[in-house]
Amino acid sequence: MAVDAVVVGTGAGGSIALRELARAGLNVVALEEGDYLTSADFTQREDEMIPRLFQDQGGRTTDDLAIRILQGRGVGGSTVHNTNLCKRVPDEILDLWSTKYRVSGVTPAEMRPHFERIESDLSVSLIPTEARNRNNDILRLGVEALGWRGGQLKHNRVGCRGSGFCELGCVYNAKQNALKIVLPQAEEAGAKICALVRATKIVHDGCEVKGLVAEATDDEGRVTATLTFRTRVVVLAASAIGSAALAQKSFVPDPSHLLGKGLRIHPGAVVAGWFVDDVVGDKGIPQSYECTEHLSFEEGSDKRAWITTAFAHPIGTACVLPGFGAAHMRAMREYRKYAVLTAMLHDESSGEVYVGRDGRPKMRYEMNAADRKGLAKGLHACAEILFAAGAREVVIPGIPPVRLRSAKELSSVDYSFVRPAGLPLTAVHPMGTMRMGDDRRTSVVTSEGEHHHLRGLFVADGSLFPTSLGGPPQIGIYSFSHHIAPHAVARARRV
Ligand SMILES: Cc1cc2nc3c(=O)[nH]c(=O)nc-3n(C[C@H](O)[C@H](O)[C@H](O)COP(=O)(O)OP(=O)(O)OC[C@H]3O[C@@H](n4cnc5c(N)ncnc54)[C@H](O)[C@@H]3O)c2cc1C
Ligand code: SF4
Repeated sequence: MAVDAVVVGTGAGGSIALRELARAGLNVVALEEGDYLTSADFTQREDEMIPRLFQDQGGRTTDDLAIRILQGRGVGGSTVHNTNLCKRVPDEILDLWSTKYRVSGVTPAEMRPHFERIESDLSVSLIPTEARNRNNDILRLGVEALGWRGGQLKHNRVGCRGSGFCELGCVYNAKQNALKIVLPQAEEAGAKICALVRATKIVHDGCEVKGLVAEATDDEGRVTATLTFRTRVVVLAASAIGSAALAQKSFVPDPSHLLGKGLRIHPGAVVAGWFVDDVVGDKGIPQSYECTEHLSFEEGSDKRAWITTAFAHPIGTACVLPGFGAAHMRAMREYRKYAVLTAMLHDESSGEVYVGRDGRPKMRYEMNAADRKGLAKGLHACAEILFAAGAREVVIPGIPPVRLRSAKELSSVDYSFVRPAGLPLTAVHPMGTMRMGDDRRTSVVTSEGEHHHLRGLFVADGSLFPTSLGGPPQIGIYSFSHHIAPHAVARARRV
């Protein structure tokens, strides 16, 4: 089949690229390896939705099994089950990319119209304070009691019923995401979306893109057909993990040896506080308040933790709650009384994506000493907040778990458990594996998103970011895709 452009992946980055290419009148198709599910398919059950909505059925990890990596799989990508927090890329980060990483056209003033466009498309608004559940109010109380910096967050929801099931897909269709908003706009403009079709190889001659090979599968992943697209433009938006892996599998030229390198993931860990009165953290909007007291965007700073709430549903909680048998059951019976915070690291450690023997993407990532220290400080701060808000007991689920009865005991905590496999770590924000910039020696794609050495290959997802953001990335990814898309349109028109 001959088309003007193929977009690989339909999440935050892919949806915008697809829409903009289609609106420019181009014949464009998006390939998505996961299924096309909508709110009618979501059941609010962890056992059913996690395997259907997440990569590797929710079991994706770094290759040492130390960090769980949650990522979306399906039409809408990770925007289907994300928790809808909306923050722009901070000005300090954009300035850093412009100066140190030599990315052109992305100063705060240059990116502002893209952020505004995306925020308007996705109906971004401040989360109403009356929608703050008790878990988030405990965070606010603790932050205010300590006199720290914090505030209410923004989101992209309309008509939210506060069910608390965001991570399992929204039955009430309240999320203004790629699935509900952007992809239908793309289809209306003439784009085609092929679900259950996995891109397997970018066809090229070493200088320019010639096409793309893909496999159609059934919903069990069995290959049913091989598809070949003739095209001069491929837009990679399969996430910072999927895009780099596909480029590697396709032997895309890589003279700077940077393809797949520079992986950032914002690893995070939780701290739980036990309260006398019920918290019921699984009900209501999961995250609505943040603490930014321990977060700086300056490179090398020791303030590297973004703190918010992180309440899991029962199966997720049971997996990280310390203890076995009767002790574990006793702890689970207290489920309603726990408030849970997370410290997410604005990481400077650099991991990498590579292709495993099974042809699937793999991740190598280990926190450096400075990041381990930064995360430890973040966990310490979470515990301080919980005590300041009235927690009677605080548990840091390290191995072994740390149980504290008062803030005074905090000074004696030995954080050496913050190391690979010493503490359950989760990451939901992969970035940085095909970074952008003007200098072909230090970046993989240009500041316009086109590969330095392969004409017609564009990147329009979290892979582009030269550093981590220190906050939720979706608005940044949608907006950078909006920034890149006109260049892909221009290339498709020129060929
Ligand atoms: C649990 C969770 C909560 C989150 N909460 C927030 C939040 O509150 N706010 C926020 O800003 N961010 C949040 N995020 C992160 C945010 O959703 C992602 O950063 C963003 O969606 C990434 O966009 P992307 O385009 O890079 O990739 P994705 O949205 O992940 O999309 C990539 C798509 O490509 C597909 N794909 C991969 N390989 C192939 C292939 N070879 N062929 C075809 N298709 C392929 C995948 O199936 C997937 O659908 C959260 C993420 C998770 C997992
Ligand atoms: S909390 Fe709101 S957005 Fe989240 S699943 Fe429930 S209704 Fe949907």
